[in-house]
Amino acid sequence: MNNITEIFKEKKLKLTPQRIAVYKYLQSTKSHPSAEVIYKALQPEYPTMSLATVYKALKTLVEVNLIQELNVGEGNFRYDANVCSHPHIQCINCGKVDDINGICFSNLNTEVTSYTNYTVLSNQVYFYGFCEECKTKLTKK
Ligand SMILES: [Zn+2]
Ligand SMILES: [Zn+2]
Repeated sequence: MNNITEIFKEKKLKLTPQRIAVYKYLQSTKSHPSAEVIYKALQPEYPTMSLATVYKALKTLVEVNLIQELNVGEGNFRYDANVCSHPHIQCINCGKVDDINGICFSNLNTEVTSYTNYTVLSNQVYFYGFCEECKTKLTKK
C-alpha cells in the first residue's frame, strides 16, 4: 500500500484534508466511483468541499500515481485506488464498473510488442456486459 503522506512529501505537494478524504474514500470502495459520486459521498463529512475541489484532488492523485483514472467512454471517468494493471468489466445497462480478479493481462504487453514499434508500458482491458442485478431485472420482464 502506498503511503500518501510520504508520496506527497516527496513530490512537495500539500497534503490537504480534502485530498486525504478523496484518497481514503477510494481506498474504501471497489465500486470505481465517478467524481460526482465521491463528491456526494463526502458531503456529510466535508460540507464545504466543492465538486471542483474533488476534481482537483483526483487530478493530483492521478498525477502522483496513487489512483488510476478509467476512461469509460463518452467523457465519463471513474476512479480506482488499485493502480496495478487489472481488467475491468462494465455493465452496459447501469454503468457499474467492476474489477475482474484472478486474470492478468500483463503478458499482453510483450505479445503486443511484435505488432508495433512502440515500447509497450501498460494496457487497459475492458469488457462489457450485463451485471448480475441487471440480468435478473431484464429477464424478469
Ligand atoms: Zn447493471
Ligand atoms: Zn479496478
